[in-house]
Amino acid sequence: MAFVILEACQSEKAAECVSVCPVDCIVEGPDQFYIDPDVCIDCAACKAVCPVDAIEEEYDLSPDQEIFLQRAEEFFANR
Ligand code: SF4
Repeated sequence: MAFVILEACQSEKAAECVSVCPVDCIVEGPDQFYIDPDVCIDCAACKAVCPVDAIEEEYDLSPDQEIFLQRAEEFFANR
């Protein structure tokens, strides 16, 4: 189980989430920040500090948001 950063990050990239993550699994990508779903411990600290409410729990994603989990998996698979 993991949290996922959604489209709202793309115009903001505020980065508050990076400093609060206890396992350092949030990384800046070319278009937005990404959470490594294999490392995230589901603590919700990042969601609480995001100023644009761009972060959702994996199981709360709507069908059209599932692509952002896939994009995160691809981002970390290709690093
Ligand atoms: Fe990091 Fe916790 Fe957010 Fe997962 S839920 S990305 S562990 S701050």
